[in-house]
Amino acid sequence: MRGALGGPRVLLRRLREVMAEPVSAQDRLDKIVVLIAANMVAEVCSVYVLRVDQTLELYATEGLNRDAVHLTVMRVDEGLVGHVAREAESLALSDAQAHPEFAYRPETGEEVYNSFLGVPILRAGNTLGVLVVQNRARRTYTEEEIEALQTTAMVLAEMIASGELTALAKPGAEPAIRRPLHLKGVALADGLGLGHVVLHEPRVKVTNVIADDVVKETARLDAAIGKLRHSIDVMLEDDGLAKAGEHRDILEAYRMFAHDRGWMHKMREAVLSGLTAEGAVERVQSDTRARMMRASDPYLRERLHDLDDLANRLLRELTGRNRGPEREALPENAILVARNMSPAALLDYDRSRIRGLVLEEGGTTSHVTIVARALGIAAVGQVENAAGLADPGDPMIVDGQAGEVHLRPPGDVEEAYAEKVRFRARRQAQYAALRTRPSVTKDGVHVDLHLNAGLLVDLPHIAETGAAGIGLFRTELQFMIASAFPRISEQLKLYRAVLDAAGDRPVTFRTLDIGGDKVLPYMRTVEEENPALGWRAIRLGLDRPGLLRSQVRALLRAGSGRELRLMFPMVAAVDEFDRARAIVERELTHLRKHGHGLPEKVFVGAMVEVPSLLFQLDEILSRADFLSVGSNDLVQFLYAADRSNVRVADRFDPLSPPALRAFRMVAEAGLRHGKPVTLCGELASRPLEAVALAALGYRALSVSPAAIGPVKAMMLELDVSAARRILLPMLEDHSGTADPRAALTAFAKASGLPL
Ligand code: PEP
Ligand code: MG
Repeated sequence: MRGALGGPRVLLRRLREVMAEPVSAQDRLDKIVVLIAANMVAEVCSVYVLRVDQTLELYATEGLNRDAVHLTVMRVDEGLVGHVAREAESLALSDAQAHPEFAYRPETGEEVYNSFLGVPILRAGNTLGVLVVQNRARRTYTEEEIEALQTTAMVLAEMIASGELTALAKPGAEPAIRRPLHLKGVALADGLGLGHVVLHEPRVKVTNVIADDVVKETARLDAAIGKLRHSIDVMLEDDGLAKAGEHRDILEAYRMFAHDRGWMHKMREAVLSGLTAEGAVERVQSDTRARMMRASDPYLRERLHDLDDLANRLLRELTGRNRGPEREALPENAILVARNMSPAALLDYDRSRIRGLVLEEGGTTSHVTIVARALGIAAVGQVENAAGLADPGDPMIVDGQAGEVHLRPPGDVEEAYAEKVRFRARRQAQYAALRTRPSVTKDGVHVDLHLNAGLLVDLPHIAETGAAGIGLFRTELQFMIASAFPRISEQLKLYRAVLDAAGDRPVTFRTLDIGGDKVLPYMRTVEEENPALGWRAIRLGLDRPGLLRSQVRALLRAGSGRELRLMFPMVAAVDEFDRARAIVERELTHLRKHGHGLPEKVFVGAMVEVPSLLFQLDEILSRADFLSVGSNDLVQFLYAADRSNVRVADRFDPLSPPALRAFRMVAEAGLRHGKPVTLCGELASRPLEAVALAALGYRALSVSPAAIGPVKAMMLELDVSAARRILLPMLEDHSGTADPRAALTAFAKASGLPL
């Protein structure tokens, strides 16, 4: 390296000696900046530390006025140092004062320095501070010098992360590393959880970043990369990909990256500059994470995520922890934090100890979300870099209602939430008291409340909530959390258990609804441009009748001697229903022929999820025994707004005339034909929406377990006729200004409905 004394390796070796010296933190920092300045042949070297108040404080300097140490404080939106911290990117300038963001600080005496090189001090993608060198002469810092300074910054990152500097800080101005963070995400599963962080995939702690022997470290890195490539090849060859819980295309991307020269080169360079193999991987990973957090292009983010994952695997390889995380005993109040998690992985944990779940990914309809809801675990998704920001054991609050997370919350926030939890518990007790009361409105209308379910873990909810039955049993969940197609015997076992748990309350099984966003990891599916509009649900069932037939057989056998209700998802044309029904008839004949016990009666229904069915209601009702409105899908298709795309999912109000008219059409058609009609989308789980549905004529709703209490409490106070008088005229109003939500809210308030 041009001009440097001995290059980065010598510097790192010297730094290690300084790190081992029994001196105070300030002395250590002072020595470090002297060493770096000398090694880089710079007149100035300074360390700025990011504080909890999001300002940058000068912690040590060689070359600038030393009196400014701990006095000079800058905002992150100020000056060149702020720029580096904000962007988490290096900045090299030969004429710093000409840069528009240059901010003059007279107390530091830095006006005589023309050249500026600043690098972020990063850990797990988070900026902890900024390391700067400056020269009087105008000079261009080389790539090698920038790299060398970034490598050096890792040592400082370790020092800040160790907490050593906290002793130097004034109260309220501590280094930001452990600052309280209020993170916004998306509400996945309602509830409040207070507890301590458990990382689902613990980060590999790299403790030694400075190498003794560069040749040895290079060999270790190469060996680890070789093993990593091999393990990916093995996984790709393995037919049972599901075992790894991964998809083929992800692995293909991994394989490509594992051979990516740029990535490899960066890590090798980092080793050559004096880092251990682990240190080098972490250094490159930290850059990747920092880029990932700032990338707005979703494709690029995905790829950076893949690289991040790969770096984790490499770290596990290097530290000999390549068998995946060991399941340590969970603490009493665990908050699981992960980038993403499969439903099966969540079910593997001891439910009784989990208070919350925080994911960097995860959508409102993803499977892990469905399982979290079933288990009653408060969950928040799409929390940027959650697993990078949180350390194991950190206190954390998950607000599954607001979609927010408080990491290391200050005392007052914690107290406020503890009070909320107590309040919720009191309300839960009130709901529990309503358990045995039938859901009848004030004016004597029965609006039965059924449960949505899909897993064994849901079954206790029937008794806990006093639900009238299971209005929607999503049979695909069993398939989604399994690692291979569940055999008929396994399906039969689950369906029997469900019917047993329900006793004499009715259960409506929905046949497999896979495809779209519901993928089975072990089933190869075709790439589709628009999977929600693609080969899914009943379409797949009819094209692969073997699958549907075996499921229907399991259902019919489970229903032996009882009444059985089953329904088909995503029916778009009556002919599909006819063909599906024919499969049921055929299976009945088959079972009869083989002497199996048959259900006493079989009711076969259709879900109204595709708008085309709204215009064939008479046709479908003359064939089906009942209808169930799947409002999640129906609303998505009515408004052409993808339910799993956060940008558009809540863009249109289902309490506005178009959707309400659609719901009314179904209710009225059911009445005309004397056939039961229910609604089982998430909509019904919200009390105000449930008021609207009751007013439109729905006499049975199927809701999530946690919604039974609040919806019933509301029903008991509701005067349906009054609600009808408010709502129905609004559906005849074609001015385009009708606002049913506002009108119903006002009505609810005036009549004291508990919303
Ligand atoms: C619906 O679409 O409303 C529904 C109940 O089915 P799912 O949410 O499983 O698609
Ligand atoms: Mg649906």
